[in-house]
Amino acid sequence: MISTSYDENERTADVIDIASRNEIAHTNALINARRDAANKPQIHPDFDGKTCLDCGEDMPVERLAAHRIRCTHCESIIEKRNQMHA
Ligand SMILES: [Zn+2]
Repeated sequence: MISTSYDENERTADVIDIASRNEIAHTNALINARRDAANKPQIHPDFDGKTCLDCGEDMPVERLAAHRIRCTHCESIIEKRNQMHA
């Protein structure tokens, strides 16, 4: 007679297990996507290769070398904005 409730518990555990596995896979995919986006060279038709796309300030050499199109300040604003929408 224990079989019914036992099976029910097993099934519930499976569902939770699958759900948490999906959650982990989803989170990993998000992290990978963010990391890929962060490493990918940024391009923009309006970027002049010298100054920040948003504020027009001269770009630090290391930002240009990393193929960024915005200064760290403007980039952080965008990242914050993206996090709010995430
Ligand atoms: Zn800027």
